[in-house]
Amino acid sequence: MTTITGGCLCGAVRYTAEADAPSATVCHCRDCQKFTGSAFAALVMVPKEALTIGGTLKTFSSVGGSGKPILRLFCPECGSSIAEEPGTRPGMVILNVGTFDDPAVATPAREIFRDDALSWVHVAGDIPRFAKRPG
Ligand SMILES: [Zn+2]
Ligand SMILES: [Zn+2]
Repeated sequence: MTTITGGCLCGAVRYTAEADAPSATVCHCRDCQKFTGSAFAALVMVPKEALTIGGTLKTFSSVGGSGKPILRLFCPECGSSIAEEPGTRPGMVILNVGTFDDPAVATPAREIFRDDALSWVHVAGDIPRFAKRPG
């Protein structure tokens, strides 16, 4: 078990999570690009009960690539994108690695939605890569 601490840019939102393996998913989908404001999202999934959030998050719900809703959580003060709650995995929360206090604890274990990846983004490592969703 690794204890992950993190928070938003302004500090209004702080969280602590217990993660089994801080192996990250790199998602290139357009929604993750939009939500993070970056070229891709680096994500770590944790059980909801292993996550404690301090502060108030604003949420935005949209339909994900699975056809199920995905709830996106962000700081209403500074806009940092903190997490997602996927309709496909009830009880799980996906944390955005960029908000970790030490993002280096996470390393990519797989890439998804490679079809949407920008041509200059190359994730290192001998890891599974999926054109869209895995499976
Ligand atoms: Zn903030
Ligand atoms: Zn995505």
